[in-house]
Amino acid sequence: MKENNLEQQIKKLAIDEGADLVGICSADSIKDKEFSDPNFLMPGAQSVISIAVKLDDDIVNKYLSKEDYLALCYEEGYITKELLKIGDKIKQFLEENGFKAYRCNINFNYRNINTTSKSVVSALKNLIDLINKDNDQNLELTEKEQNTLNMLKKLILGGFRKSPMKLVPNFSHRCAAVAAGLGRVGWSGNIITEEYGARVLFGSIITDAELKPDNVLANNPCIGCKICEKSCQGGLFQKEEHEVITIGNLEEKIAKRNSYAYCIAVCSGMVGQNKFKEWSTWSPFRFDEIDHLPLDESVDQYVSNMYARAIEKGGKEAENVLRLIENTFLGRNDKPAEDFRPTCGFCQLVCGPTLQNKKESYESIINSGCIDS
Ligand code: SF4
Ligand code: SF4
Repeated sequence: MKENNLEQQIKKLAIDEGADLVGICSADSIKDKEFSDPNFLMPGAQSVISIAVKLDDDIVNKYLSKEDYLALCYEEGYITKELLKIGDKIKQFLEENGFKAYRCNINFNYRNINTTSKSVVSALKNLIDLINKDNDQNLELTEKEQNTLNMLKKLILGGFRKSPMKLVPNFSHRCAAVAAGLGRVGWSGNIITEEYGARVLFGSIITDAELKPDNVLANNPCIGCKICEKSCQGGLFQKEEHEVITIGNLEEKIAKRNSYAYCIAVCSGMVGQNKFKEWSTWSPFRFDEIDHLPLDESVDQYVSNMYARAIEKGGKEAENVLRLIENTFLGRNDKPAEDFRPTCGFCQLVCGPTLQNKKESYESIINSGCIDS
């Protein structure tokens, strides 16, 4: 096989296997940041292949208008499996041609979470079982169970109150996608493609093959409509102020971020409302003591405590936290597609391919009411 043919063969393979977009960037172009340096996962990295699969517009529209929840959960789960499968095929192809390759996981892999301590998940399951039993009028805890409950509460709830609000991914698929020419960073920080807006999911394959990189997109498809900001219950984005991030030689202007705690509380599904009362995300949960998240730096501690309080309540709220912890510690890559349970993602999903589509999607969100708490 001729080396100069390798890029086309990789791209053809990606498309044949189901990718909607594929591009290549050099590892050097994105190695300047901790979360996008491909050498962290594969020392000696030379290139990254970025792939994307689009979300189905009908399914997204029914999710935003609250007509159908599970279809989008399955769609995200199914696309994640697709991206992993396409990535594995590309990895295999590169290895058969004498190169090293690493297929990145899709999401929920963080550098500042100790994923070796998987016992957290079983300990949390145990704690929630005991809390549920304790809450059940017809059941009584044994003395041994009561002692275990007290011990687990102290250990686990204490840990939650110290959890970091900013998680550092093992690898940023977004940086690779921008550098490989698949899209540009929009006002929301999501990657906006020319073809599908922000309605895509990304995967990446790192290799030591020196591949010819693609050009970055010359024009940013983000039209600055800020509909993403208006669709965010969390309040992560500031309306007017911006910040500049750099990827390779590009400077991208995005909405200035408030504390990530605003996003974590709503993105994670711990609450389904914050800024707006006329509509909610798909999360049925609400605040206990306040109407909105605090507007100062105390928000980080408030959100950490929110997790601990949800566990103490038991039932569905505790199950929701368990799902998040499973995702964070065990990753989502091996989970069955049916287990994916996004409740928001509106900043991404509202941003369809055309302005008309974005406007209609926004109308769907604000006219679809609330999921009952
Ligand atoms: S919704 Fe509008 S402003 Fe926000 S990322 Fe999409 S195009 Fe840009
Ligand atoms: S996922 Fe939801 S809460 Fe999080 S930033 Fe996007 S719109 Fe806001």
